[in-house]
Amino acid sequence: MTAERYAVVGQPVAHSRSPWIHARFAELTGQAITYERLPAPLDGFAATVGAFRDAGGRGCNVTLPFKFEAARLADELSPRAQLAGACNTLRFDGARVIGDNTDGVGLVCDIVQQAGVAIAGQRVLLVGAGGAAAGVLGPLLEQRPAEVVVANRTRDKAEALRAQHAALATRCGVRLQVVPLDRPGTAFDIVVNATAASLAGGAIPVPADALRSGKLAYDMMYGAAAAPFLAWAQAHGAIGRDGLGMLVEQAAESFFLWRGVRPPAGPVLAELRALLAAEGAA
Ligand code: NDP
Repeated sequence: MTAERYAVVGQPVAHSRSPWIHARFAELTGQAITYERLPAPLDGFAATVGAFRDAGGRGCNVTLPFKFEAARLADELSPRAQLAGACNTLRFDGARVIGDNTDGVGLVCDIVQQAGVAIAGQRVLLVGAGGAAAGVLGPLLEQRPAEVVVANRTRDKAEALRAQHAALATRCGVRLQVVPLDRPGTAFDIVVNATAASLAGGAIPVPADALRSGKLAYDMMYGAAAAPFLAWAQAHGAIGRDGLGMLVEQAAESFFLWRGVRPPAGPVLAELRALLAAEGAA
């Protein structure tokens, strides 16, 4: 059987663990696929995706900074990708590009099922308004927290996210507002860091009193890049969790969209954690 090709497209992608995750999913489910890293120039996302599709690619994940561009590129969007205006998953159906977004499912699944933390009724601070934040806001609202507050360095982007999700927030009975990054409010039950600040070695983007003692501070980053945020959360009494579980869960949903087979996310997450720990210790 010829292996079908998939990839992760972004800039940078050298750090991505997605090839390892999808290779394990393929082994465990008996699917014949390959999965590669595809760095795209900042002005060359569409060309990179097009060339990959023309060379026989069947689909790709999309990572920063291209998730919004991926939604514009797609010929058809799933309802959740349409709401987000951003895609992390593309499927090639002949010449047509079908866009979806599995980031939100990944985050909610990791918080609620893996970490055992309810989102319903809680006060949530979402830091960031990039492609990742756009993908998770809808699924967070659908969990019916008491409120979701969005803070971003560029406030206009947070306002745009709020406007896009206002109707869903009303339907779910959730208060949704935008606040300044340096004064987001205090004592949130769940703080989600969806910024790329730590990739560039930046400081923790919100003040520590946004955290509530004993509650959850979630960084979408993982590995060494998440360490400063996790240490900061713990130093201020919150429970820190990195984005490795989200990464594996969103990948599992993408794999399911492409292959129609649901891979075992839990065991793969445990293996990946052990691998990262061994690398850190080496
Ligand atoms: P984007 O490039 O689309 O957005 C980046 C976001 O980070 C924007 O909100 C941007 O603010 C903010 N930002 C960047 N630098 C700084 C800084 N120095 N201080 C404050 N804010 C900053 O990226 P994505 O949204 O796609 O990804 C964001 C992060 O989430 C990445 O680190 C990515 O690796 C991670 N991620 C993890 C996933 C997982 O499965 N664990 C899935 C998806 C993403 P502004 O708008 O002002 O530029």
